[in-house]
Amino acid sequence: MNNPASPFYSLGLIGYPLRQSMSPLLHAAALRETGLNGEYRLYPIAPGVGFEPELDALFHRARCGEIQGFNVTIPHKTAVRAQLDDETPAARSIGAVNTIIARDGRLIGDNTDAPGFLTDLLGVFPNLSQSPEGGRQTALVLGAGGAARAVVFALADVGWRVIVAARKSEQAAALARELMGVRSEFIVEAEELSVEGLRPHILDLLLVVNATPVGMTPDVDSEPWPTALPLPDGAFFYDLIYKPFETAWIHRARERKLPAANGMGMLIEQAALAFERWTGLPAPRQVMRAAAEAAAGGSVTPD
Ligand code: NAP
Repeated sequence: MNNPASPFYSLGLIGYPLRQSMSPLLHAAALRETGLNGEYRLYPIAPGVGFEPELDALFHRARCGEIQGFNVTIPHKTAVRAQLDDETPAARSIGAVNTIIARDGRLIGDNTDAPGFLTDLLGVFPNLSQSPEGGRQTALVLGAGGAARAVVFALADVGWRVIVAARKSEQAAALARELMGVRSEFIVEAEELSVEGLRPHILDLLLVVNATPVGMTPDVDSEPWPTALPLPDGAFFYDLIYKPFETAWIHRARERKLPAANGMGMLIEQAALAFERWTGLPAPRQVMRAAAEAAAGGSVTPD
């Protein structure tokens, strides 16, 4: 039930294309449950010529108080940074923004992907923050795009050694170099995403994260892991993809009785954190989760 005394929250998502986004559903559920008046709209802005003036016009409306917040997704998480007034330390370190808060005529960029990933992972992999004596736990992150940056930062920030692997090894090397520069204690290494690149690390891995879109609907038979290489026996498998609910890669891990999770928990947590930044109210996570489950047609709880 909406509260007539509540201010109106105009929220939305900037990206392109936006057909498959679950964010409107999650935020509509959160607004309804908290009794706030508001809306969550899609702002599809194609990259290329005309992108900057379009974004500028949208940001002008936010600086005037007409819009209170945005999420940002592919392909604009990095490009929007130039037009913001400030960034949180996390967004600055990661080099990508997925949440913009409009306040007092200023736009602040934040990144809720990193804490969203970490919070969800802690729920399904409780040993996450336990370092073995005298060493670091090792994670492998597949992909070196915007989501990979957030995941690598989150893991390095809790003391993990992180190997980032991309099909273009120079892309992985650039990411590793940039994040190593964030804090002297970070250990981030780069590899090629290939049998030869990954084989030497197999025995060290406690966690493998897919941060590529490989396996996402409609390309559901593809896997990000090289088929000629066995899955590491001692690892937890986390796929950022949540459409399909179980990717071919996660299916293979589960068939081999290896622990695994999809990206639905991260999606809900990053949305909940963004909602809290915009409204100052605790996000109704259970309601958001129920809305996501109803849309996905399955339980969000990983097994
Ligand atoms: P992105 O910035 O476009 O980066 C994608 C990365 O994957 C790039 O390194 C890209 O390398 C690599 N890649 C693409 N196709 C590949 C292929 N066939 N083989 C090997 N590598 C490939 O995208 P993103 O924002 O990081 O998103 C990545 C995935 O995470 C998407 O599926 C997205 O839906 C998901 N995601 C989920 C959540 C969540 O809350 N669960 C949040 C954010 C993102 P190239 O440059 O060589 O193409």
